This record gives sequence, structure tokens and C-alpha cells, in this order.
Amino acid sequence: MHKNNLNQPTTSEPFSWVRIYQAANGLEANIIKGLLHTAGIQCQLQGELLQGAMGEIPFEQTGVDILVYALKERHAQEILVNYRQVKQSAPDWVCPSCSELNGPTFEICWSCRTVKNDESE
Ligand SMILES: [Zn+2]
Repeated sequence: MHKNNLNQPTTSEPFSWVRIYQAANGLEANIIKGLLHTAGIQCQLQGELLQGAMGEIPFEQTGVDILVYALKERHAQEILVNYRQVKQSAPDWVCPSCSELNGPTFEICWSCRTVKNDESE
């Protein structure tokens, strides 16, 4: 006769998806997605609208959850810590062409696609 372990506690499943970050928009979500992929971590974006052709991202989309396997959560968090540090150390920049404020990780103005002027060169 079998024992039914009905009261078995649910341990954290290594392959369940856990949310590690909520990106401000699809653009930031894709930056992080790229970082995770570089590190060999599979991730899932939730709340992201369908991307257009040529990898275009709907900028008006807000609040994108980034999920990774529970198994990879710790590794992913380390990458995020690193990402936040880089983000904080670099200032936002104002587009010289359209005066739009851009995040430091953006190399191109999100609004008019003017390339960021790097003063160090
Ligand atoms: Zn611009």
C-alpha cells in the first residue's frame, strides 16, 4: 500500500520562475536580458509587448518583470548588483538634439536616436 505524502512541504523548485527585477521599461528589460544571456542565464520577460521587426522595442511599455529559474537566482542577482553599480556610477545624459533625458546605459537617444557624445574621445 502506498503512502500518500499529502502534507509534503513544497520546497523551492529549481526550475520554477522567480522574479528578480522589475525593469522600468522594455528597453531596460532587454538590456538586462542581454546581460543575463551573456552570463548563460535563461530569462523570461513578463509584461513586455510584442516586439516589432528589427528588434524594435515599444518604448511606452512600462513595468517589465524579469524572471529567471530559481536555480539561477543567486547568479542573476549578482549580475543585477553589478548592473545597478554601473548605472549609478554613470550619470544620465541629455540628448543634444532633442533635450530628452537618457539613461546612462543608453548609447543612443531613445527618442530621436542621436548617438551619445562621448567626451572622452
Ligand atoms: Zn534625442
